[in-house]
Formats: sequence, structure tokens, C-alpha cells
Amino acid sequence: MHHLSKVKWIWQDGNIVPWEDATVHVMTHSLHYGVSLFEGIRSYRRTDGFVDIFRLNDHIDRLFNSAALFHIKIPFSKQNLVNACVQVVEKNHLANGYIRPIVYLGPESMAVSAPGASVHVAIATFEWGECLATVSMRPNRRCKTSTFFRGNAGSSFFRAKVAGHYTTAYLAKHEAARQGYDEAILLDGNGLLTEANSENLFIVFKGVLKTPPDWSTILPGLTREFIMTIAEELGVPVQECSIGRDAMLLADEVFLTGTYAEISPVTEIDDVCINSGEPGPITTALSQKLREVVCLGSKHPVHGHLFAPTQVNK
Ligand code: PMP
Repeated sequence: MHHLSKVKWIWQDGNIVPWEDATVHVMTHSLHYGVSLFEGIRSYRRTDGFVDIFRLNDHIDRLFNSAALFHIKIPFSKQNLVNACVQVVEKNHLANGYIRPIVYLGPESMAVSAPGASVHVAIATFEWGECLATVSMRPNRRCKTSTFFRGNAGSSFFRAKVAGHYTTAYLAKHEAARQGYDEAILLDGNGLLTEANSENLFIVFKGVLKTPPDWSTILPGLTREFIMTIAEELGVPVQECSIGRDAMLLADEVFLTGTYAEISPVTEIDDVCINSGEPGPITTALSQKLREVVCLGSKHPVHGHLFAPTQVNK
């Protein structure tokens, strides 16, 4: 998230404000204890000129679910926030963009359980690149199994996209990067695969697409769900099942999915080449299909929120 320069406006608590004015107090509760709920959403410029905010309603649903799990009542309706996302994209003349809604607690309480804390919502956006499948899938992604675990089922609600969970992601990513890898893959306390830092994990073995189940400690990603749907449409059997590290190393294909990563082929893990070391045929086919839906306007029941932009930056 470093291309911040072209974006001028942020939506904060119902108002569009200049980037510089969208600030919080240093005593804001969420800053101290990591309880803020957020989403990462992509908008794409389609070849027909429309802008597609991918699965916007589903992202806002997940934001409300995250808040509910943390006993936080968002002071806006879902429809308010859907409209606000479109409004801030339009106001910034974004087409290929990234949208970051965040719900956070104000400075009224220093108690960890935040009694009486005010609830705020901001929606920031960034310029972001084209659909990755259009440019080229990032190949040669080298991953490392992290020494950090993705939680224990009883230690949090992992379906919530809450800032506090990302302390582990931060440590895992730094560890991987220090050792020259692109990304970290996290096991759970039993040594089973969960996901990468901020992407879900898939393997292909003998033509079957497998992924850790959504009843494990993963964040059940919206891209993950979409990929499972389009895999079935392409005739690829899909299984949610426990996967060990050895099965991943021996897989025919491994890839990661997420709003930011889309579909990202993994070609090497823990210094072992995955199959030929090239993105595999199922990874490639799924990536093309994703591109057809988000960029080329191919009709699909799991579609995004479409609108005709009044003006875009490029
Ligand atoms: N897992 C984690 C921990 C994440 O942060 C993300 C990104 N939101 C994902 C998986 C992928 O989810 P999605 O496809 O909804 O972006």
C-alpha cells in the first residue's frame, strides 16, 4: 500500500474530508489494543468502461460480521457503507483501485473492553494496478513456512478481520522477508496448513483442488470462495480438507488467493520447487476466468457492484 499520492479524499463518519484531515486522537482505543475491523476491496476498470467494485456487498457483510463478533455496533447501515464506498471511489476518480473501510473505537475509554467508546468508520482508497492476470501473474513466488502459528481456534474469532490478528502476519512476513522469501505460509498449532499472511492457500493434487476448511483458523476469503465456485464451473473437483505441509510440498500446483493478490502462483516453498517450478494449468485457467469476470465483464452470478464512472484518473 504505498501509492497514496493521487488520492485526495477520505470518507470519515459520513463526510468526505481531505486526506490530511482524516485523523484520529492518540488515545483512540483501537490504536492501543488492536480492535479495529477492516476490509480490503478491489475496484477494476472493465474493458466496457464500467467500474466493478468486486463483491462490494459481501465485503460490507463481512465487515458487519467482524464487528458483531467483537460486540461493536456500526453506526451506519450496510447500504450507507456500500454507497459511501462508491461515493469515495467516484470522488477520487478511481477506476483500478483499492478500498479500505475501517471501523474503529474512539478515545473515550482506556479499559480493554472499551465500555462507552464511540464507534467510527472511515473509508480510504488507493490507486491500484490493473487486474494482475492482465499484466502477468507474478511467477516464481518463493514462500517459507513460518515459525509463527496462525492462532489456536480458542484464542480468537478468526472469521473476524480484526487488526489485532495482523501482529502475527507482521512477524511472519518480516521473518520470511529477512530470509529472502516473498511470502510466509502459516501452520496452526497442530502443524496443519492454514493460509498465508493475507491470502488463502490452495493446492492442486491429481486434478483435485484442495484448501484448508473454513472451519479452521483461516479468514474465509471472498476470493477463495469465488475461486472454489469457478473451479467447479470449470469441472475441477474442490475439497475443503486438512492439509499437511508434506502434501503441499508434493503438490502439482500451489497458489494463494486474496483481494490484493488475486491468484498468485507459488512456485517454491522452503527451497523445494513445486512440480516444474512454473505456474500450473489449473492456476492459469482460474486466473484467466477471474480476469474475464472482473475486467472483461463476463457475466457471473457472483458479480461485483457495477457503476459507470463520471470521470477517472487514467
Ligand atoms: N486471509 C487473511 C488473513 C486476509 O487478510 C485476507 C485478505 N482479506 C485473506 C485471507 C483473503 O481474503 P479475501 O479474498 O476476502 O481478500
